[in-house]
Amino acid sequence: MTKVLVIADIKQGVLKSSTAQLLSKAKAIGAEAAVVAMGDNIGSLVPDLAKAGSSTQYIADDPGLKLFSAGPFASCVVNAAKQFGADLIWFGFSESGKAVAPRVAAQLNAACATDITDVKLQDGGIEVIRPAITNKVLQRVAVPGGQLVAVVRAGAFEATEDVTGSENMVKLPPPAADLKAVIRQIVSEESGEIDLGDAGVVVSVGRGVRDQAGIDLVKGLADDLKAGLGSTRAMVDAGLMPHYKQVGQTGKIVAPSLYMAIGISGAIQHLAGMKGSKVILAVNKDPEAPIFNAADYGIVGDLFEVVPILRQEIKKLRG
Ligand SMILES: Cc1cc2nc3c(=O)[nH]c(=O)nc-3n(C[C@H](O)[C@H](O)[C@H](O)COP(=O)(O)OP(=O)(O)OC[C@H]3O[C@@H](n4cnc5c(N)ncnc54)[C@H](O)[C@@H]3O)c2cc1C
Repeated sequence: MTKVLVIADIKQGVLKSSTAQLLSKAKAIGAEAAVVAMGDNIGSLVPDLAKAGSSTQYIADDPGLKLFSAGPFASCVVNAAKQFGADLIWFGFSESGKAVAPRVAAQLNAACATDITDVKLQDGGIEVIRPAITNKVLQRVAVPGGQLVAVVRAGAFEATEDVTGSENMVKLPPPAADLKAVIRQIVSEESGEIDLGDAGVVVSVGRGVRDQAGIDLVKGLADDLKAGLGSTRAMVDAGLMPHYKQVGQTGKIVAPSLYMAIGISGAIQHLAGMKGSKVILAVNKDPEAPIFNAADYGIVGDLFEVVPILRQEIKKLRG
């Protein structure tokens, strides 16, 4: 039976949704799934990791792992992969995952593929799908034998309710500290903000909102929906939004249940970051704006009139 090792994505002690999504996919392709988790004081996550579909939980729980550090985290993953005999090693889409995956592949002498959106097992080998050239083509990458380390694109796999697992915790020894790079502090986003990668709804602003007052107007809508607030690159380049909010080819890739594009033209580089969203709603005053080709619902109108109406209607519905 093919064995998949999923790397748990933990942020401030909380398990992110990608972990359950990857475990569900492992089950869906008929593989045996285990999970490896690194952090400080994370033992309490074991029941959740089992419930999400893993049959073994490799846990590296040590104060030295409180802050992310690519070298020590990679050592833990390699240790777990060897013990489990993993064929596939899957990371969720995050900066830390992208930093650790190649280190793990190099240490295991395994193949490595980033940004995959599907996996198939066939004739003892593995085939993965990777969108390339701003989603214009889909690469089919065949790995005839041996191990594959992969980073899975955000939202590519869905978590399913009916998966089962069992608690079987294996403690990993704390890895040696990385002497080449020491992480002293992790500066996180403003507290209380919803992480774009985890948000069920993302509301994004484009140049159409013009200025800070426009951003505040749309942020009100995002707050009503408990949504993450995203941005186009044009807004980041104008210094109006921080880069970590940028959605697109050179920003974050998101795939929420609902993506609302407010005052966004729909450039191909922006679409590359949000096209996988389940439902897309666009508000733009230009009926020819390319965003309407990608949208499921389009409102042609001035956002400064449309957004207050949307907020009113949402309030009424919730009423
Ligand atoms: C290598 C490269 C990488 C890039 N990476 C990214 C990326 O990761 N993410 C990204 O977003 N972009 C990226 N870009 C930039 C991208 O090409 C676009 O320039 C950018 O997405 C445009 O942003 P925008 O839609 O906010 O602005 P615009 O294209 O200027 O669109 C503004 C829209 O607002 C509408 N509008 C104006 N006023 C109103 C109003 N009152 N009511 C309603 N609608 C209104 C207009 O009709 C227009 O459609 C990249 C470009 C390059 C070359």
